Amino acid sequence: MKDRKLLMIPGPVEFTPEVLRAMGMATTSHLAPNFIERFDRALKGLRKVFLCPDGQPFIISGSGTLAMDLAAANLVESGDRVLVVNTGYFSDRFAAILEGYGAEVTQVLAPAIGDAPALEEVETALKKGPFKLMTITHVDTSTAVGTDVKGLAALGRAHDTLVLVDGVCSVAGEVLYQKEWGVDLVLTASQKAIGVPPGLALVVAGPRAMAAFHQRTQRVSNYYADWTRWLPIMESVEARTPLYFGTPPVNHIWALEVSLGQILEEGMEARFARHRKLSQAFKAAVAALGMGQVPVRPEVTATTLTAPYYPEGVDASVLAQIGKAGVILAGGLYPQIKTRYFRVGHMGAVTASDILTTVGAIEAGLSAVGYKFEPGAGLAAAQAALLGS
Ligand code: PMP
Repeated sequence: MKDRKLLMIPGPVEFTPEVLRAMGMATTSHLAPNFIERFDRALKGLRKVFLCPDGQPFIISGSGTLAMDLAAANLVESGDRVLVVNTGYFSDRFAAILEGYGAEVTQVLAPAIGDAPALEEVETALKKGPFKLMTITHVDTSTAVGTDVKGLAALGRAHDTLVLVDGVCSVAGEVLYQKEWGVDLVLTASQKAIGVPPGLALVVAGPRAMAAFHQRTQRVSNYYADWTRWLPIMESVEARTPLYFGTPPVNHIWALEVSLGQILEEGMEARFARHRKLSQAFKAAVAALGMGQVPVRPEVTATTLTAPYYPEGVDASVLAQIGKAGVILAGGLYPQIKTRYFRVGHMGAVTASDILTTVGAIEAGLSAVGYKFEPGAGLAAAQAALLGS
């Protein structure tokens, strides 16, 4: 019997065999022409996947938190006013990082857990500016709350405020047009919809963000994150005259080039549509099994993951039963409601059969802990959504 379990947490996700093979290839020199060619293609691929043709990409060893740190370290000077649109755990983290670089942080809080601040509230806050920049968490992975990046970015633009998006749980899964929407910087990490094992911090900074960096009057107060060191490296790769600062993660970058190629071969619109369809199918199954969700309404609900509340009489012990049925899911993360819900990631290379397998395992788990429901109700709802147009 196969004992490999399907990993359906909101990152790391399941990766394609081609990406995993790239991770396992013999490591070349970080200056070798065949590696630099891949690195160059990965930089160019990021511009296409982020939909920001005139952006400056950065590919640096680290996790998503380093990507947040890069954005804050390079764009914030001590005393700058910053607005944080707060939708949960990862917005709190961004506020803490920004404060660490001396920003004066104002937060617009969501009215309730599972909700996002209204555009009008953000506009009211922006009017009390000026703010040098605002940060938005596109998808808060702790609650599956998604924000209206397009609407928020338009407000930021109107108030001459740089717009930074934490797209760790969104880029390459959730609809996001960086340039068209006027977003100045998008950051992400490799392990979610980008489809590469954990280990890369990825940033695309648009022209206004780069101009703000070049106009700094204070030195960047972080050695490793400083773009003064990294910008020449990224530029040298694209010029095919590689320079050294810190040893690049050769296998990760090789794998990133493979994954970005697969993403672009699918096409961004097709990829967005697949994520939307699979998400709708999974959410239909959750509803059919009698479970509510943390996001309070569809307009604030993410595509890339789902956060169902456990049904009446069921607790986190069901996750072990779902695991026995072959699927790994994640528990709750948002402190106040942590024990009341769980999280399912469906992004990256995820397929319709992964969705059906996951729903089947959830039904098996619920049955094992004695929850009463019509067996197959979730599967039927998911399949109906998958087979619908
Ligand atoms: N932001 C968001 C929205 C995230 O989901 C995560 C990770 N789950 C992070 C930031 C931090 O990324 P990492 O764990 O890779 O440091």
